[in-house]
Amino acid sequence: MRVVLLGPPGSGKGTHGKRLCESLGVPLIATGDILRQAIADGTALGKSAQEHVKSGRLVPDETVLGLVETRLRLTDAQRGFILDGFPRTVAQAEGLKSLLGEVRMDRVVNLVVPTEVVVARLKDRWLCGSCGAIYNMSTAPPKVAGVCDRCGGGLKQRSDDEPETVRKRLEVYARETAPLVAYYEREGLLRNVDGSGRASDVYAAIERAIGKAA
Ligand code: AMP
Repeated sequence: MRVVLLGPPGSGKGTHGKRLCESLGVPLIATGDILRQAIADGTALGKSAQEHVKSGRLVPDETVLGLVETRLRLTDAQRGFILDGFPRTVAQAEGLKSLLGEVRMDRVVNLVVPTEVVVARLKDRWLCGSCGAIYNMSTAPPKVAGVCDRCGGGLKQRSDDEPETVRKRLEVYARETAPLVAYYEREGLLRNVDGSGRASDVYAAIERAIGKAA
């Protein structure tokens, strides 16, 4: 199954995407994770992306399309994949379509969450530095403060979750990425899912949207 998760920062793409790919047995391809890893490793890609990511702006389309093309060629992506944080512009969506050729996406799930809810979520979001598990200090805290329940790794906040950068990312989302909702509606692939409720309810709604649950 090939699914795009669309939605603003903090809408739950990473949280639900991780669970969905485990259940479907396909990889989660999160361009933000790939870019953060490249920055941490100090690769050429990381160096070219660093300033954009730090300031909440988009990395140029051709850079991101190049990394997605390379990732989609790996054998684990041949059975399907979940895309999180990509595409983020109409040009990227067009690029994805031409990369896939004859193969079509099955579904684009748009997680709809009010701005005030995503701002509150991002303020409280902590991630495991080792396995990437996502916590919310108010609604889904770890059992032991600062320690990942799943792997025991240390938790940290993302530098671009700082309020000023979050504002910038939301502005960029509204301008560059929100037009993809109409784009995928025209393609007949879009399903809107209310992403503001309890995680288990949202996940069940995503499963229904992709036709996985009865
Ligand atoms: P994310 O983890 O998806 O919130 O992405 C973090 C940051 O990585 C974004 O604010 C952008 O700077 C960059 N980024 C991630 N995915 C893309 C993409 N598809 N196109 C351009 N920039 C991206």
